[in-house]
Amino acid sequence: MPNYNYRATDPDQQSCEHCEAGFEELQALSADPLTECPQCGAPIRRVIQKPNAMTNRRWNTKKMLSDGNLKRLGFKKLVKESDGKYVDVLQDK
Ligand SMILES: [Zn+2]
Repeated sequence: MPNYNYRATDPDQQSCEHCEAGFEELQALSADPLTECPQCGAPIRRVIQKPNAMTNRRWNTKKMLSDGNLKRLGFKKLVKESDGKYVDVLQDK
């Protein structure tokens, strides 16, 4: 079940801390989006979350895909030669 973010549509209107700051609600995909705050009844809207799962991780893709790392993990790195054959370039290293 996805987690949806809700926030008061108009913070100037009557609203509570709960919806002014925004809150998360676990809902089924098929569920109708909430239209009012469950605590104070103020109008709320669903806010789209930025998918930031990848950017949070300190992955160094370049390092991960380096020849040394690939070889250490048992990968092959096939490169197509000019004659159309694939050669494992990690073999010779
Ligand atoms: Zn509220």
